[in-house]
Amino acid sequence: MKLSIVVPCYNEEAVLSRFDTTIRAALAGVAVEYELCYVDDGSADGTLAGLRSLAQQHRGTTRYLSFSRNFGKEPAILAGLRAATGDAVIIMDADLQHPPELIEKMLDLYRLGHDQVVAKRCRHGDRRMRTALSRLYYRAVNTWVDVELTDGVGDFRLLSRKAVDALLSLPEYHRFSKGLFAWIGFDTVTFDYRNAAREAGETKWRFGSLVNYGIDGMLSFNCRPLRPAIYTGLGLAALAAVYTLWIIGAALVGGITAPGYVTLVAIIVGLGGLQMVMLGLIGEYIGRIYYEAKRRPHFLVKEGHVPVPAAAPAPGHADAATAGHRAG
Ligand code: UDP
Ligand code: MG
Repeated sequence: MKLSIVVPCYNEEAVLSRFDTTIRAALAGVAVEYELCYVDDGSADGTLAGLRSLAQQHRGTTRYLSFSRNFGKEPAILAGLRAATGDAVIIMDADLQHPPELIEKMLDLYRLGHDQVVAKRCRHGDRRMRTALSRLYYRAVNTWVDVELTDGVGDFRLLSRKAVDALLSLPEYHRFSKGLFAWIGFDTVTFDYRNAAREAGETKWRFGSLVNYGIDGMLSFNCRPLRPAIYTGLGLAALAAVYTLWIIGAALVGGITAPGYVTLVAIIVGLGGLQMVMLGLIGEYIGRIYYEAKRRPHFLVKEGHVPVPAAAPAPGHADAATAGHRAG
């Protein structure tokens, strides 16, 4: 069998060569045929140069693609999956937070017939606040979406060819991998590991991007978040009806006193806020339709490396079209 390792890299100059050495050592230990598929996600540092030289050094087992700009980790993973030719694919971060020694275990589980072998990181060493927030978030999100999302489960996983092809058959522009992995299903097995600290460079996550990622997760699957809008609307209408009857009744009994200024303002402001939230929700969905309707490619490749399989032409540079074609 052949194993492909897909590695999205964004400004990973500091850790890239260390990653490459470590991963090759680990792969030598498991004795399978392998290839490393690096995807440079429009890095602004020396990542691309590093990839070029790695590809020079290890011809035949290294391929790389470089995006025309930073498109994000999701498109980078997609590009890597498209480029991967192995019977099984492992997706790994470039920062060595995903321990390469787990590859062996993943392969063992793959050989037992599982299509997705998922490494679940425990939250050991995370700040307590972050852990609590994550837990809360997952509880909320799982009541809204159809598929089960698990805390600590990320992109670090092995996928069989069947699972990779299933992922590649999902054409949506907005890709929320975590959910897509859960959505495709197949025979999935999960095991725990302890996340290592980042070796070098720095994380690309800011608090704001985490919040946005969270909202994405909520909205990526179905329209169920719109349901509370309907319930709230119905509930408020019923309340308003009762209140109106009450005011009319009071006027009939005690005459008109014309108070209620504060009530009025509170109601207007409160309802305005609620309507904004609901409009925002609907807007998000419409925005998604807009993006999907444009049918833009997920990424553009500025430089792509075609490795040297036995009877293929010499390595050359592929453009976006060929890269996509080769993969498809
Ligand atoms: N990454 C990427 N594009 C981006 C951001 C990140 O390809 O726009 C890659 C990054 O190079 C790394 C992986 O995604 O290999 C995870 O990123 P990071 O370590 O910053 O995330 P964290 O581990 O903190 O969740
Ligand atoms: Mg990381």
